[in-house]
Amino acid sequence: MARVLNFSAGPSQLPLAVLERAAKEMTDYSNTGTSVMEMSHRSKAFEAILHKAKDDLRKLMSIPENYDVLFMQGGASTQFAAIPLNILGDKDGADYVDTGTWANKALKEAQKYCKVNVVASSKEQNYNHIPDLDKSKFNPNAAYFYFTTNNTIYGTKWNTLPDAGDVPLVTDMSSSILSEPVDVAKYGIIYGGAQKNIGPAGLVVVIIRKDLIELSKQKAKTVTPTMLRYDICAENDSMYNTPPTYSIYIAGLVFEHLLNLGGLQEAKKRNVAKADLLYGYLDNSKMFKPTIRKQDRSLMNVPFVTGNEELDDKCVKAATAAGLINLKGHRSVGGLRASIYNAIDLDGVKTLVNFLEKFEKENG
Ligand SMILES: *Cc1c(COP(=O)(O)O)cnc(C)c1O
Repeated sequence: MARVLNFSAGPSQLPLAVLERAAKEMTDYSNTGTSVMEMSHRSKAFEAILHKAKDDLRKLMSIPENYDVLFMQGGASTQFAAIPLNILGDKDGADYVDTGTWANKALKEAQKYCKVNVVASSKEQNYNHIPDLDKSKFNPNAAYFYFTTNNTIYGTKWNTLPDAGDVPLVTDMSSSILSEPVDVAKYGIIYGGAQKNIGPAGLVVVIIRKDLIELSKQKAKTVTPTMLRYDICAENDSMYNTPPTYSIYIAGLVFEHLLNLGGLQEAKKRNVAKADLLYGYLDNSKMFKPTIRKQDRSLMNVPFVTGNEELDDKCVKAATAAGLINLKGHRSVGGLRASIYNAIDLDGVKTLVNFLEKFEKENG
């Protein structure tokens, strides 16, 4: 069967060039006579894969020297616990912004370990916007200030960074990492589950300022599982135990692929063109409406509705039949959602818009 266009929110489409290269290297990686999956993680060949992946991510995101890159496991959700366990230090609380399901799960998990101060929430409006922040609600003694950069389910994104002063910003960037350049120096921790823009599910990439690694070494809660300790992961070069070797290999291929395409400036250019095309059509459509106001819109996840559930369903089914899959919206929003991560190119979005236009004509 021909490749379909996969608009899934995650796991999502990977660049075809990456899949083809992995296929070619599957049974004999670089004249080793084994696949990457069968290789010792202590072998020279695998160490080279790991270090190249780290270095390429550093290049891609211009990660400063005073940050480390950790490859961890358990997906993004495991970080919901790892963060408070590692970096509370002598503080007893952290600030959180509740902008969606993932932010809410993160703050609920943190409540097991510390006092969570919810500085703002858009929950009452079904998370359809990024809430305004009132600085008087911030706790100046917070260990960190937590937010979710891009809210995958609702299609919102922080388009201006919160200013928490000296309190380190910690962000879940799972669904927007590598979609555009970010100023890493503004953050204490950036982390992302791999299955959106990086690679296979289960792997989580943690970009962490080195003083926070030191804080975890000195002051991590004693109950912190060894596998969740940032300092131990860093000291062991992300290989305290057997790391998810194949996932790291695929992530490395994706990083290399993005560098070859021109890096994150180029990725942003492409993503803005894709989003402009799709939102532009939706804003002018008589049938479909985007659910998010302009200033909060995500570049990566685009939810939209017809206002009629039957018509939404009909559209999703017709799209699937046309080879455009996983357009059904998340159950908490309904309607449709197109996730247009890096691996979906402008032609892919053109195909989607042409499909929607035709559907609108035939069903309007
Ligand atoms: C997908 C996603 C998660 C969950 O990732 P897992 O790897 O399944 O734990 C968390 N946060 C955001 C923003 C996501 O998009």
